[in-house]
Amino acid sequence: MADVWRALWDELGLSAEEFVRTTDLRHVRSVQWLFKLFRENDYVYKGHYTGQYCIYDNAFVNDAKPGDNCPTAAALPKPSLKKTISFKLSAFQKTAGSISTRRIPISSNRNHAKTKIVSFVEGGLKDLSITRTTLRWGIPVPGEEPHVFYVWSTR
Ligand SMILES: [Zn+2]
Repeated sequence: MADVWRALWDELGLSAEEFVRTTDLRHVRSVQWLFKLFRENDYVYKGHYTGQYCIYDNAFVNDAKPGDNCPTAAALPKPSLKKTISFKLSAFQKTAGSISTRRIPISSNRNHAKTKIVSFVEGGLKDLSITRTTLRWGIPVPGEEPHVFYVWSTR
């Protein structure tokens, strides 16, 4: 693990005591519990995700414009539209804005990280696509098959 992450863990008082696989039942149940909470609180919705899709990474390439290469595979992503369930990250704009108003402190020796986070938040939080219907791996979304979670979520 990169020293930068270890240093951050020390700063935050965190430690790695356990390894959890995506497919561990405890993890699967936690993610499904979290989705239920999202749904009960109206933080998810069905829709479509469009963007530049890299078939080698099986993922959309963030911020790629038509003609841009994928940064990890040096391949040319293709325009794609996929069914998805999205998380309303935009609903947390005001809460996340607390980072820049210092209500959520970030220590001064992390100013570079803070600048990046504040810039990302001030750029406007966009809703996040959290499922795919075309992946074989991932955690089944209860009642929404064939949607699977393909991003890490846990409690
Ligand atoms: Zn790629």
